[in-house]
This record gives sequence, C-alpha cells and structure tokens, in this order.
Amino acid sequence: MQSLANIAYLIASIAFIFGIKMLGKATTARRGNIISGAGMLIALCATLADGCVLSIKIAAVAILIGTIVGVALAYGVKMIQLPEMVALLNGLGGAASALVSLAEFHKISTWGWAEYFASSGLECGKATIYGVNFSTFAAAFIGAVTFSGSVVAYLKLSESVKFSTSAGKSLTAGSLLAITCLGLFFTFRKNSSAYELYATVAIALLLGTTGVMRIGGGDMPVVISLLNSLSGMAAAATGLVLVNVVLVVAGCLVGTSGLILTIIMCKSMNRSLVNVIGGGFGTAVGSAQSGTEKPKAISVDDAYYALEAAKNVAFIPGYGMAVAQAQHAVRELGEILERNGTEVRYAIHPVAGRMPGHMNVLLAEADVPYEQLVDMETANGAMASIDVAVIIGANDVVNPAALHDKNSPIYGMPIVNAHLAKVTFVLKRGSGTGFSGLENALFTMPHTRMVYGDAKKTITALVACFKGR
Ligand code: NDP
Repeated sequence: MQSLANIAYLIASIAFIFGIKMLGKATTARRGNIISGAGMLIALCATLADGCVLSIKIAAVAILIGTIVGVALAYGVKMIQLPEMVALLNGLGGAASALVSLAEFHKISTWGWAEYFASSGLECGKATIYGVNFSTFAAAFIGAVTFSGSVVAYLKLSESVKFSTSAGKSLTAGSLLAITCLGLFFTFRKNSSAYELYATVAIALLLGTTGVMRIGGGDMPVVISLLNSLSGMAAAATGLVLVNVVLVVAGCLVGTSGLILTIIMCKSMNRSLVNVIGGGFGTAVGSAQSGTEKPKAISVDDAYYALEAAKNVAFIPGYGMAVAQAQHAVRELGEILERNGTEVRYAIHPVAGRMPGHMNVLLAEADVPYEQLVDMETANGAMASIDVAVIIGANDVVNPAALHDKNSPIYGMPIVNAHLAKVTFVLKRGSGTGFSGLENALFTMPHTRMVYGDAKKTITALVACFKGR
C-alpha cells in the first residue's frame, strides 16, 4: 500500500508541476487548473488509503464540508473580490499548517521520540530531532504569520479596515528578535515544550497583524502574493513534519511560484520587496484633481464624434473597468469600431487592476480576441501614432508622474504612455484617486478630455451612439 501511495504522490506532483506551467498562458490555463485539481484529488485519495488518517469518517465529513464551502465560495465570488478570496484561502492554508504542526508536536510530546521515530520511519538521531523540531517550529511560525497577515489583507482589500499604521515598526522588530531566540531555543533541544510553540504562534499572529497593517492598500496584491508564497512554505515545512512527500512538493511549488510572482509584481512597479514590506505606499490621501488647473470634460456625444473619425484607437483598461464590469460593453464597442474601419488594440499594464493578469482575465471572459491585447512595451512603441487613447477606469498605470516626478512615490514605475496619444479620453466617475492615492497630471493635460460617469454606462452610451447613427 505504501509503494502504491508513493506512486500516487508522484503522479500528483507531476500533475501539480504541469498544471502550474499551463496556468502561465490564457489558452491553457483552464486545463492547467483542472489538471492541478485532479492531482490534488489523487493526493487526497492516496493519503486516505495510506492508513495515516486516524478516522476516515471524520476526514470524509471534513472533505464534504470543505467541498461545499469551496464550491459555494467559488460560484458566489465576484471577479473584483478574487484577491480577497485568495487572501482568505492563503490564511486558511497557513492556519492548517500551524494547527497540524501543533498536533504533531503534541503527539511527539505524548509518545516520546522513540515511538515517533518508529511510526514515522525516520532514522533516530540528534540531527533528525533538530530537523523535526525546526520543521515544526517553521510550520507553526510561518503558518500563523500567514494566517493573521492574510486576515488583515482580506480586511484591507474588502475596505473593512481603511487605515495603515507605522506604529508597529518597533513592535515588529522586537517580535522578530523574540522569534529568533525562541526558534533557536526550541530547535536545538530534545525536550522542547509545547508552551514554546504556543508562544511562537502568539508572537507570529502579532507579527503578521502588525506587519501587514502598516502596508498601504496599493501594495496589498503584492502582499497577498507574498503570503501565498509563505502559505506554501508553511505547507512544505508541515510536509517535513508529517514525512509526506507530496505535501513537501506542493508546498515548495506554491512557495516558489508565489515568490516569483511577488518579484515580477515588484519589478512591474519598479519597487523592491523591502520597500513594499517597509510600508507607507498607497496611504497618500487627496483628490486626483486638487491642483489649480481643472480637467476638461466632454459629453459622450462629443467623444463619439472623435472615435467615429479615429483611424486607430487604444483602449487602456484599469481597475475601474473591473468595478464597472464594463468588459463586455468594451468588446462590443471595439467590434463596432473595427467594422467602422478603425484599428483597435488593448494596451495592458502588468499591474492594472488588483491582481496580476486582472485585465487579461476580464477581457478574455468577454471574448476579446487575444491578438488585440498588446503588452505595455509594444503599446508604448506605437502610442504616438494613436488617434484616440481611451482610458477605462485606469489611473496609477497611466500617471506620467512615474516618469517625470522624482518626488512621486511611484517614480520609476513603468506606465502605459497614454499621454503620448494624439487625444486621450479618461472614463471615470469623478475625482477619485487610484489605489496609490496620488494625483494624476494626465487629467489636466491639454489633449486630455474626461468623460465622467460609470465606465459601463459611458461605453454603453457610446455603443448606442454608433448604433443610432
Ligand atoms: P487605479 O486604482 O489606479 O485607479 C482606478 C480608477 O478607476 C480610480 O481612479 C477610479 O476613479 C476609477 N473607477 C472606479 N470605479 C469606476 C467605475 N465604475 N467606472 C469608471 N471608473 C471607475 O487603477 P489602475 O488599474 O490604474 O492601477 C492599479 C493600481 O494597483 C496601481 O497602483 C498598482 O501599482 C496597484 N497594484 C496592482 C497590482 C496588480 O497585481 N494588478 C499589484 C500591486 C499593486 P473614480 O473613483 O473617480 O471613478
């Protein structure tokens, strides 16, 4: 049975690797998700059949409840709530790792090392004891940090908690020092106590809360990606404690892919991870148009005449398109423009929206042809020849301060150069800032015109103009 379980674990691990690889492309992502899910089912069945689960009945009830809650959440969640949902799932993963490590340590304390080694098949020795201790400590610590950090990230993204605080800085430093001492004390002893592990969990919960609390809302997606990576590391550490190969493999895959994604996101914003974790970004408050010069607004009718005459149009979507759920209307407008002889493209900024690939997902859902989606560099290369750039609920990702203003917190972040187009229309509801809370000088530039209103309503009205004339 053990070797059968190992073969099943190997198949599951291969399914995870291929599944994750396929998630990298929109065309294969759906299949990749199914393959990874199948891998998880195989791993689950193998674990149940392996004999290491004390009560199959309890496990079956837990799986049933988990499946019902998971399916209900997946169907109920709105596209713009996905980052919150990911935060919550990361948190649950972290909590599970911490709880399993506590339970395993309780088992070791009750049984004693000799019986633990006999049951786990591990070789008895000082180094192994230290290894098990360290894995237990790491799973409890990383799992608890992930849990509390993810809960705060969830609350911030759902805007239940709107403030950030730097008050936690010295507390965070003190907690880190305490955890390092505790970690060394716990790892290198044969008779470590469960109370040390409880203290670790308590400090880790505090660390996760204060650490994420001081990071601004604009950086939350990066934090979620980092927490996702941490949840993977916690799972890998739990896998070592349980001597479960598939958990180690899956944990490492989640840990490394989450870390790679975090680094990609930081690079796209021209920020370092240390700078993101340091906090403060995205806490600026103010109006996007608080300067002396006021943006010039035009009506939907006037925007229609300009679009009708345009030879080429670039749509630049941002978070507002997701809020308005305007993607289907945008696709319809794009098709009408094409029939009108206009060349249409969609310029996609890598961090537009609130999660990586947010715009690609929305536009793919609306069946926008994949070849019309162009990356930021390609779009910028052709921007000067664009007759009309239509910004749909984007703000930070088209803010020229990132290019020119050395004092701006987003200085150095690559942007879509919408300001270089011949005419720029900005579709937004009012004077709301982007997630970074910064003003946007683009809105008051001479060739920029604001088309105020909900993006879906504005685009639908433009479509009606084309249909009605
Ligand atoms: P922003 O958050 O900068 O701006 C969104 C704009 O949409 C707002 O100014 C708002 O203005 C407008 N808006 C909101 N609702 C509507 C609506 N219904 N109709 C029309 N407009 C609307 O979005 P961007 O996509 O430009 O930038 C993303 C931000 O998130 C960046 O700061 C980026 O660094 C950050 N970020 C994103 C990550 C990712 O993975 N995608 C990762 C890390 C950070 P108003 O209220 O006036 O309508």
